[in-house]
Amino acid sequence: MIQNIEPHIYNNTYLTKEQKNTDHVFVFQSGKILLVKKEQNWTVPTRQDIGALKQFEKQETIYLFSIDDQAIFLLKDFAGKTYINNDFTNMKENEISDETTFAYHALSVLRNFTPKWLGFAGITANHLYNWYRSNQFCGCCGTPMDLSTTERAVRCPNCGFTDYPKICPAIIVGVIHEDKILMTKYANRSFKKYALIAGFCEIGETLEDTVRREIMEEVGLKVKNIRYYNNQPWGFSSSLLIGFFADLDGDNQIALDTNELAEAEWFNREDIPEDEENKLSLTYTMMMAFKNQQI
Ligand SMILES: [Zn+2]
Repeated sequence: MIQNIEPHIYNNTYLTKEQKNTDHVFVFQSGKILLVKKEQNWTVPTRQDIGALKQFEKQETIYLFSIDDQAIFLLKDFAGKTYINNDFTNMKENEISDETTFAYHALSVLRNFTPKWLGFAGITANHLYNWYRSNQFCGCCGTPMDLSTTERAVRCPNCGFTDYPKICPAIIVGVIHEDKILMTKYANRSFKKYALIAGFCEIGETLEDTVRREIMEEVGLKVKNIRYYNNQPWGFSSSLLIGFFADLDGDNQIALDTNELAEAEWFNREDIPEDEENKLSLTYTMMMAFKNQQI
């Protein structure tokens, strides 16, 4: 899965790091990521690469985490403090020299990035970016927040309120009935491939409560024997995905919630389609575990 980056090691202990020219800098804008072209391959720019861009050369960065001894930074773009030049984001490619070209790419490039550890770093950096971006002002008194210098947090200089990165737990569940699994397709989403039933935990619920509620809401079915399978940090939706399998309990008549789903269908193991593009997701790992008789 995307987080399995062995032999590399993800280290999110908060450190105060001086940035080296070789450290990677993530730049996100409007659901896109800035990449640089080197030897015909698009990759994540280093501090040195970023320095070639007039818009960014004086911009500060925020230390996020490390992978091995490689520190990962985010370009700081707090509203009211520093702005990224928006004209730049509208350009398709920005050629700096014969060797260096920059362009914004869809975030989905991170799903199958080479090297893989940098893709995981990007998804995780995007989670932190979205949190920093939506916590620029104190939720209690409206004062612009300061970055804490001692921990990964923002702190209000007026009232002292301190806020920490938020992780939203969400479940994915493979519902099994007579050696078949229930596969779905989302309605009104850019992701058009098969998925399993999924949804965010609501306040006051256990994970099992969420599993039962989501299945009832989306397909009108009851389940029993809910069992944990695996989990995955998924920064695209600021979530931690927790995977379960469960057995149908009673009637198998599907009542589709057409606001959420375009289809829901029982699949035999051998009919589950393979999909190289999404092989690093927990959803796909669960589908393949069922297909390959591991469940
Ligand atoms: Zn405050």
